Amino acid sequence: MGTLQELVYALRKKRCKQIPYMYERKLVKLKYGVLIINIILVIFGLSWLYTNFCPVYGLSRLPSMAIGGLLVLALILIGGFFMERLWCRYLCPYAALLNLAQKLGSLLGIKRKKIFRNLERCVDCELCSRNCPMNLDILASEYVEDENCIHCLRCTIKCPKPGTVCRGRVQ
Ligand code: SF4
Ligand code: SF4
Repeated sequence: MGTLQELVYALRKKRCKQIPYMYERKLVKLKYGVLIINIILVIFGLSWLYTNFCPVYGLSRLPSMAIGGLLVLALILIGGFFMERLWCRYLCPYAALLNLAQKLGSLLGIKRKKIFRNLERCVDCELCSRNCPMNLDILASEYVEDENCIHCLRCTIKCPKPGTVCRGRVQ
């Protein structure tokens, strides 16, 4: 699903303007709603209601993909032409589950590598944030604490000052 979205977005000649962070932070919570709906459907033995519309489930069974899944996939890919990784950012229940696992890991004091920005070298050009596929505010702090970071390392490539933003120490 991520690959398909990347391919669709790569068709663009110019990157779309990112949506403001205050809206982004609200929209990323939608995927927790999708996860809760999934759990409720599973408890009541109605998971087929979700799988009939899930584009990822449909893709894994391509020859017999349900019409609902196909329609949602088409909508996601059309939307994905205007907004990078639409599904991963806002709707994927598995991403929600992984984010919760990261939050739990942090609560248990499990350390992991995070994207680090050297504040002394940074010239605040914002190129890293503007190119982040998950629309994260990299300039908000020294380390990217947001669990939505997928460690694609694009920010490290786009930074005009090599070595300023990098995959930092385990902390
Ligand atoms: S590694 Fe990728 S997702 Fe994480 S902050 Fe950098 S560009 Fe964004
Ligand atoms: S791209 Fe590099 S120099 Fe520009 S704001 Fe990001 S870390 Fe700083």
